[in-house]
Amino acid sequence: MTDIKSLTKEELTDFIKDMGEPGFRAGQIYDWMHKKQAAGFEEMTNLSKGLRDKLSKECEYVSLKIERVQESRIDGTRKYLFELADGNLIESVFMKYRFGNSVCVSSQVGCRMGCRFCASTIDGVERNLRPSEILDQIYAIMRDTGEKVSRVVVMGSGEPLDNYDNVIRFVKLLTDENGYNLGQRNLTISTCGIVPNMKRLAEDKLQINLAISLHASNQTKRKELMPIANKYSIEELLDACRDYFDKTGRQLTFEYSLVGGVNDTDADADELAGLLKDLNCVVNLIPVNPIKEREYVESTAERVQAFKRMLEKRHINATIRREMGRDIDGACGQLRRRHISEKKGYCSDSSAHLLR
Ligand code: SAH
Repeated sequence: MTDIKSLTKEELTDFIKDMGEPGFRAGQIYDWMHKKQAAGFEEMTNLSKGLRDKLSKECEYVSLKIERVQESRIDGTRKYLFELADGNLIESVFMKYRFGNSVCVSSQVGCRMGCRFCASTIDGVERNLRPSEILDQIYAIMRDTGEKVSRVVVMGSGEPLDNYDNVIRFVKLLTDENGYNLGQRNLTISTCGIVPNMKRLAEDKLQINLAISLHASNQTKRKELMPIANKYSIEELLDACRDYFDKTGRQLTFEYSLVGGVNDTDADADELAGLLKDLNCVVNLIPVNPIKEREYVESTAERVQAFKRMLEKRHINATIRREMGRDIDGACGQLRRRHISEKKGYCSDSSAHLLR
């Protein structure tokens, strides 16, 4: 079966013509999928019933099912748990900011990168998401909220550069001027640092933003937190970052999750400033969101502020991530894990507001 929502407009046109239909039908279908976020062929009312039936037989139409939604009492952030056609569950987050709505999408079911503080990776990777399955996280949220989305971050479960081709196709579909037409500058991909694919991305010369999960200021500490550091050294990683900036001109973001007593001392900040001094970048500080499977604790608010000041004194731009949805299992992979364990009969301890 053809995964119709993963096709480019050109591929869809060929597909429709092969079905013996006139080419302009492809434009209508593409509009329904990407401009109007239709939930299924039955909504495509300017197509004949016969054509809709034929499409239903020959194509798979990815339209994610909402399994559960939690809304934060603190900031209105909504965390969605979606069920895929094969029964797998994935998470996405909808955040409202002054400048517009933002969605954080997952790129894989689970993750195989093994970062020590992350809940998504505990059971490894189940499979890659297809372009349509990444796209429809955004479309399903727009259908549900009735609101437009102006920024997208690929920062949910999974490592986007470990699912390179599907993620790039997703980027091209979402930013296609004939489709939803999101500006590439409003899209950010976050990677734990798969160096060869960062180089490939630089060659693709897209205008998307790249965020790099750094989380440590030297190789020894990074290895303790992130197994990927065993494969690519911090020097190789920063070279790939320089290359990305040289080729695209896009400012880089380094994510740095502050773990109490592990990577949050003044000496860490000093070393980090030295490491990043010749890079056009901003450091995004995130107090680690403790997960029950691991012993890590977050840095105190004072430590986070002190760390930021240390970086700024050394002329490194730093921001502190506004924590959103902390009361709704906001960190990668937490809601999915909790939902699965509840289904197995374990208890839940969340005070969050369950919508569905
Ligand atoms: N695989 C990609 C994107 C997914 S994770 C990456 O590694 O960048 C998005 C960000 O959240 C990463 O910086 C990740 O390290 C961080 N993260 C994951 N779990 C976290 C937690 N419990 N607390 C704080 N940050 C976390």
